[in-house]
Amino acid sequence: MRKDYHTHPQLMRVPDRIDRYAARAQELNIGALCITDHMPLSISSAADRIPKGQVGEYIRRVNDARERFDGVVDIRCGIELDYHPDFAGEIEDALAAGEFHHRLASSHMHLFYDPTREISWSTFAGLALENLCRATETNYFTAVAHLDMFRWAFTKPERFPMREDGYNWQDFEDLYREIFRNMKDRGLLLEINPHFAEKTMDLGRCYPERPLLDLAKSYGISFCYGSDAHGTDSVGAMLTELEADPDYGPALQTWERS
Ligand SMILES: [Zn+2]
Ligand SMILES: [Zn+2]
Repeated sequence: MRKDYHTHPQLMRVPDRIDRYAARAQELNIGALCITDHMPLSISSAADRIPKGQVGEYIRRVNDARERFDGVVDIRCGIELDYHPDFAGEIEDALAAGEFHHRLASSHMHLFYDPTREISWSTFAGLALENLCRATETNYFTAVAHLDMFRWAFTKPERFPMREDGYNWQDFEDLYREIFRNMKDRGLLLEINPHFAEKTMDLGRCYPERPLLDLAKSYGISFCYGSDAHGTDSVGAMLTELEADPDYGPALQTWERS
């Protein structure tokens, strides 16, 4: 069964969009749709974030949609958790509000980015991966979202004016290996995420990039798929292309059978 386990209908701001997401999932033969709006975070008021104090209401709205689409699409309640050790208390507050089927670990280092500070691509990548490595040492999560999404920031120099010293995954191989060991120990899934790739339909921009997919496989990591849809058209993005791919396809087939 096809499943999309990373979607942002922005449920607290646009309550009816979840129904459009479910209808789109049905069109694409996606049997299970997990809603994963962002946790409340004191330093961010992004539209896809649940406002502070409203996580219980968010869960109630997802479960209402679950009942409305019973027998059509299996709607599940998840959450995207922005990990940083300074915000562990805010993660615990969000998780205390109820049950979540899927808890995504995200290292959104751009939230902590200071444009006045001299920083290079490799420093930024290192900060993001160190932070993610700390996340995989906790027991908050069921999956790691967009492993190498910091690559996206390198394409936005006007917003993130960093010194372009290059990025190569092999420079961080030890850190990736530590992340995968932690994930294997805790049974965390690794997400295949086309959010950066879908605009250009370029599989080379998918997270994780191919060599990291192979490295994760060598640790016996299991995968999941999440479109990271921020609009109805992005539900199930690139799923057909990924399923047909010789590297991503077998990883997704195992997930679709589980
Ligand atoms: Zn994210
Ligand atoms: Zn997301």
